[in-house]
Amino acid sequence: MRLLFLSGLFAACLCAQTPVAQRPEVKKALKYIEATHEQTLAKQVQIAEIPAPTFHEGERAKFMAGEFKKLGLKNVEIDPQGNVLGWRPGEVADTFVIAAHLDISFAVGVNTKVRKEGARWWGPGLGDDSRGLAAILNLCEAMNNAGIKTHQTVLFVSNVGEEGLGDLNGVRYLLQKSVFKDRIKEFISVDGSDPSRLVNGGTGVKRYRVTLKGPGGHSYGNFGRVSPIHAAARIIDRMADLKVPEKPKTTYNVGTITGGTAVNAIAEECSFEVDLRSEDLGQLDKIELFLLEAVRQGVADENKARANSKSVITAETKVVSDRPGGLTSENGPLPEAAKRAAAAMGFTPHFSYSSTDSNIPIGLKMPALTMGGGGAGGNAHSLNEWFEPANAWKGPQMLLLTLLEFDSKLK
Ligand SMILES: [Zn+2]
Repeated sequence: MRLLFLSGLFAACLCAQTPVAQRPEVKKALKYIEATHEQTLAKQVQIAEIPAPTFHEGERAKFMAGEFKKLGLKNVEIDPQGNVLGWRPGEVADTFVIAAHLDISFAVGVNTKVRKEGARWWGPGLGDDSRGLAAILNLCEAMNNAGIKTHQTVLFVSNVGEEGLGDLNGVRYLLQKSVFKDRIKEFISVDGSDPSRLVNGGTGVKRYRVTLKGPGGHSYGNFGRVSPIHAAARIIDRMADLKVPEKPKTTYNVGTITGGTAVNAIAEECSFEVDLRSEDLGQLDKIELFLLEAVRQGVADENKARANSKSVITAETKVVSDRPGGLTSENGPLPEAAKRAAAAMGFTPHFSYSSTDSNIPIGLKMPALTMGGGGAGGNAHSLNEWFEPANAWKGPQMLLLTLLEFDSKLK
């Protein structure tokens, strides 16, 4: 009995109703979000079916700009980078950004038709990040419906360039170059599905393209000349033997390799792309230096082995992606607000590292989090991406409470 009583008490504590969650207009907005669950899902599907591969987000951006206008957001625009911006003024000009990304990590021409099979739906980009885009629209609509006012201004953003070689160019522009950059004080990216997963750490990412060139020639007639492909193999072999720590998690991957023209020709060129990541910037520096040294040594070894031919390999290393890393302290005001929101929702929040749009603000020491838009999902970035809509309204609810828990402490 005693145990039962205690566990009952514990459950009640998990759903601690904070003063913010008790405010009548907040209750009204939370109810509205749940009541409009089906409409939000319909919007999510509509968004997902507008193709938006990275660097080709224009059509989806126009759709989102139309939705922002319908919601009454002020000064709706598509900025020079392609981001859609819409303002919900507060008492002060200091601004809290709520963003979701427009782009999908698929090539132009991908079939974005959504397929529904009972409790599980399928579609490239359906969860990542059409759920986020639908969630921020629903959030804004609920705030309007309940007449919620905020101290800070809220800037709703549908940004470009989150995926792959987009290299976070949308949020990078907004926070580093746009005319609004100095007004923006905090940042939430709504990405993924699970709303209890709070990404407060930005995994640092660096990507290189290594290009090796030589004179080329006939495989038989010019045997003995240097080969860019053989040099690449020497470099990659060194990389593959590199030991990296499990904690802080540090990884490397040679993801693509191209080169050569025929089986009976010594290649003139070979290039490959390497993805380096770490939770710790010092470790990221270390593996970056290792790669550059592996290139130097691999090229030297190939040139030495073919010294009689008087031919040489030249190497070019180019950074094709550079995402800053870092951490928003779990004890800072924004994560603390998210913890109170999670308690009100009955969630146990778990903090984690990832590479998301929040890497940019985190790199600028701006409080930032990435959180899920609701529901469940898997196989992101594959044609088998799936999304389960059950209870997905909890995403926008968690978002609303996090925003208001944070904002209420500023007054
Ligand atoms: Zn995403």
